[in-house]
Amino acid sequence: MKTSVIGYPRIGKDRELKFASEKFFAGEIGEEELLKVAKEIRKGDLLKQKEAGISYISSNDFSFYDNVLDAAFLFNVIPQRYKDLNLSDIGTYFAMARGYQGANGNVKALAMKKWFNTNYHYLVPEIDDDTKIALNGSKPVDEFIEAKALGVDTKVAIVGPFTFLKLAKFTGAKKISDFYSVLTAEYIKLVSVLAEKGASWIEFDEPYLVRDLSSEDIALFKEIYSLILANKGGAKILLQTYFGDIRDIYSEVVSLDFDGIGLDFLEGRKSLELVKTNGFPAGKVLFAGVVNGKNIWKNNYKKSLEILNSLGTENVVVSTSCSLLHVPYTLESEKKLSDDYKKHFAFAEEKLAELSEIAALFGTEFESAASFKNNQALFTGRVNSEDKDVQAKVAAITESDYVRLPVFEEREKIQKKILNLPAFPTTTIGSFPQTSDVRKNRQEFKKGLKSKEEYVEFNKKKIAECIKLQEEIGLDVLVHGEFERNDMVEYFGENLNGYVFTEKAWVQSYGTRNVKPPIIWGDVSRKSPITVEWSKFAKSCTDKPVKGMLTGPVTILNWSFPREDISIKESILQIALAIRDEVLDLEANGIGIIQIDEAALREKLPLRKSDWYSEYLDFAIPAFRLVHSKVRPETQIHTHMCYSEFTDIIPAIDAMDADVITFEASRSDLQILDSLKENNFKTEVGPGVYDIHSPRVPSVDEIVAALTKMRAKIEDSKLWVNPDCGLKTRGEEETVKSLKNLVAAAKQIRG
Ligand code: GLN
Ligand code: ZN
Repeated sequence: MKTSVIGYPRIGKDRELKFASEKFFAGEIGEEELLKVAKEIRKGDLLKQKEAGISYISSNDFSFYDNVLDAAFLFNVIPQRYKDLNLSDIGTYFAMARGYQGANGNVKALAMKKWFNTNYHYLVPEIDDDTKIALNGSKPVDEFIEAKALGVDTKVAIVGPFTFLKLAKFTGAKKISDFYSVLTAEYIKLVSVLAEKGASWIEFDEPYLVRDLSSEDIALFKEIYSLILANKGGAKILLQTYFGDIRDIYSEVVSLDFDGIGLDFLEGRKSLELVKTNGFPAGKVLFAGVVNGKNIWKNNYKKSLEILNSLGTENVVVSTSCSLLHVPYTLESEKKLSDDYKKHFAFAEEKLAELSEIAALFGTEFESAASFKNNQALFTGRVNSEDKDVQAKVAAITESDYVRLPVFEEREKIQKKILNLPAFPTTTIGSFPQTSDVRKNRQEFKKGLKSKEEYVEFNKKKIAECIKLQEEIGLDVLVHGEFERNDMVEYFGENLNGYVFTEKAWVQSYGTRNVKPPIIWGDVSRKSPITVEWSKFAKSCTDKPVKGMLTGPVTILNWSFPREDISIKESILQIALAIRDEVLDLEANGIGIIQIDEAALREKLPLRKSDWYSEYLDFAIPAFRLVHSKVRPETQIHTHMCYSEFTDIIPAIDAMDADVITFEASRSDLQILDSLKENNFKTEVGPGVYDIHSPRVPSVDEIVAALTKMRAKIEDSKLWVNPDCGLKTRGEEETVKSLKNLVAAAKQIRG
């Protein structure tokens, strides 16, 4: 049996790509140096997979920022505003990714969205009426040739045209129907160039197929691929899907002339049933995704072999369930984690070995094989640790624990009176720039080079400065700045029982931003108060209200590697009870405004509408309410969500029953505002007035314009003024300038 990897991590084992890119952005290294680093990363990744004996290794899975952006760039889906900057190719590419502010002009970045149900983000291709789609790059070809020169004959992976078009934003009058045939023709050109260069397999990634599809979608897909497949020349085409099953289009897909079809048997709840009931054509290869590309637990070979054996087709390749982009590089980098834990984990590199072992066991009397026995030994008995107390508390939750009283409208009145804030109150989302001294302080403390007292002293100095700065800027609701936090989830995880941590298990979130999700190992509870001392200290520095800052249970779970032995619902409730303890302690210590971030709430929304409530919202939203239901009426609960893509679940967001919600609105259009109005959204709102994911400083006029648009849709009494996310990734100078403009804009509107 052969093995296949859909894609490999590409940030470098020690985040080399991040560091090189950042140096490049800062002008410290040139393009040549950056390209060299990238080439080394690709080489390392390819050879690792080759050494592990993987049969189908992808090329073109590398990206300087994002694969969807790569495809946009490759097919000249480059809005004119970026071309007008007259930058080099890579300069234009990064301008699309990050925005540009400099000698050649000033433009915003493309919109960024979460990639399906992951914490990875893609850039949204923007197609206007003048877009001239044309193959005008050679990245896939170059990277195929580069791999070949290293002795690795790769399948060339590329985002497929259907997914590309479905994810694109059409800003003019023209629609998909006006563009699909030319895009298809250009993909065909690419296929023929690749075939000519000797590529034997081309992998078209079409994850969009796992969503609910309309009959037009199905017709579009068939039309595009009938053309591509009729013109594939000598190349074999693999249709790769992941993150779910393709129930709406399975029979059409198997009847098309694909040479291989990749299905996800983990998240694809119906994949097995689809293959069994509809059959799988004998002449095609089934790439069966059974090794989890999203989680870090060891594969259970028994389960995987059962799936592979029940497929009823000979032509099976064992594959990852999705790209390994979503898991860290290797356990080898984890020097501190004990083997008792490590033996249960598999990161990307270890998953390669799993693929090979499963392939070797397939079709044999595997029950007696050593590799099988060793694997099964990991699954006998209990793996994850238990806490009976926590289990009992979860079991004792009743309906009233999910309800905050009095109702919103009454609380709103009480809070307006007590807080006495100006109209259009200004605030931030929590973190302030994590300058190098801040990181150094944390690292030295962690390494034992600094005493606890010195560490705390430094952070207090930072908090005091941050409060003073916010007072000078003129903000109304202040924050302590989050200098003690490396990451909004890891920080809480470290203070909760039931978590384990890694040193270098970084996963790409967007561009040069990587995250290190902690691992939920056992039942979760709070060890002791987490943020109270910091918030109390911040409050002592000012007469203005200080907002306490917590991460909510849904986000903590979504940005951790979750357990697989208990349900997500059970885990979320455990975390909710732990965070509730913290909320009540903050309140008891005089913190009258508490923000509970649910940055990642939207991202785990099931990809199919029919699953939204039953599989997720029905427990995620109550879990959030559980966290704050016991606070006093005058305590104002804020929440924050990254990205405004909740147009379709507005009632659920309102049902979180927060008093204020802040969210991103500046990078996408303000369409969300219409929906808030239509749905009579009761919660007060702070739609971010500028984009913090880009280093540019918004002008006062720009912010006033954004606010003016917002006022047309949102009652003045409900509108807050804030950036669209935390400021930790930004520099100090741009932050101060931006916030001053924000306050000036709010004042202008008040006037
Ligand atoms: N409070 C967090 C911060 O400001 C929120 C971050 C986020 O939404 N991703 O950093
Ligand atoms: Zn955010």
